[in-house]
Amino acid sequence: MKITRVTPHHLSARLSQPFAYSRSWYDRREALLVEVETDAGLIGWGECYGPPRLTGPAVAVLGERLEGADPLAVEAHWRTLYAAFRDHGQKGVLIEALSGIDIALWDIRGKALGVPIHRLWGGPVRQSVPAYATGLYRRREGDPPRYLAEEAAGYVASGFRAVKLKVGFGIEDDLAAARAVCEAIGPDIGLMVDANHAYDVVAAIRLGRGLEPLDIGWFEEPVPPEDIAGYQRLRAALSIPIAGGECEYTRHGFRALFVAGALDIAQPDICAAGGLTEVKKIADMAEAFGVRVIPHCWGTGIAIAAALQLLAVLPPLTPPALADSPPWLEFDCTEHPLRQAILTAPLRPEGGVIRIPEGLGLGIEIDRAALARFREGR
Ligand code: CA
Repeated sequence: MKITRVTPHHLSARLSQPFAYSRSWYDRREALLVEVETDAGLIGWGECYGPPRLTGPAVAVLGERLEGADPLAVEAHWRTLYAAFRDHGQKGVLIEALSGIDIALWDIRGKALGVPIHRLWGGPVRQSVPAYATGLYRRREGDPPRYLAEEAAGYVASGFRAVKLKVGFGIEDDLAAARAVCEAIGPDIGLMVDANHAYDVVAAIRLGRGLEPLDIGWFEEPVPPEDIAGYQRLRAALSIPIAGGECEYTRHGFRALFVAGALDIAQPDICAAGGLTEVKKIADMAEAFGVRVIPHCWGTGIAIAAALQLLAVLPPLTPPALADSPPWLEFDCTEHPLRQAILTAPLRPEGGVIRIPEGLGLGIEIDRAALARFREGR
């Protein structure tokens, strides 16, 4: 079997209402999907995190090098492509492009061998995982504590056992929002906060101290990803677990974070940090360092499917014991017209739990009509 073509698909869709996190507003959602075709008729799908206008051309450049190659040699292709651009692309867009291609090659591998991807790693360890709701962004109109509390209560009503609140809008503002959400969801539901590196260490410690009485599950990206010393200081200063890593890449980048003791929870994004090949290695390394892994996931159904295949085999958050502590799926609940539309069957949690797909490869089918409908610039 040979690879015949690697195609980036840039999709986009306008949102009915814009929403904001600490760094910017969104008024549309975009996606860069990767299609890898073979001469055997098998097709694999992947997705890249990051700006499609950059990842799309990068996928095309990397993909050209795979034409005529054996699609099952996934590890070999990862190494060859990484080595080809190592001098210029150890992090960022190039690794995001490599991630999307890698996921598509794993999809082909599973389909060719007649198993879901998690079987190729010796799984499944579990048939389903809990999902937490990512949402609670800011809107143009309304009083944040009020609408955030209402939104959070809605997630709890639909079965989620944990929700994540965007912070980074000013310490007093964040504390008011967190208290309102906490009250709305009650003591049995987990609450995490995510600053998207809006603060420096001084401000993050001040916010963290205010949040400590609320029993926060983790404080995500409190400071810029380059500030490893800042992460270390926060871990020492706060009782809240410190999470991060969605802006880090490859085993080399995560090794530096683990050696420094920067994280309690590592959040590699499979569509950014190097695909399934690399994030499995990152997760194995994290276990050796005693760091929990809860992948970052903020894409379409392809990103969700890739995360689920890995979550099927990740170790429990705490060492195996009678009481299981499965890793969580990050489930983005914000408006995303593409998320489920590109799948022929939706992939979403029921009662806060989501089943690991058991179909071949990623276990999903792509709806080509949706690709045409949402094509950028159509
Ligand atoms: Ca985040």
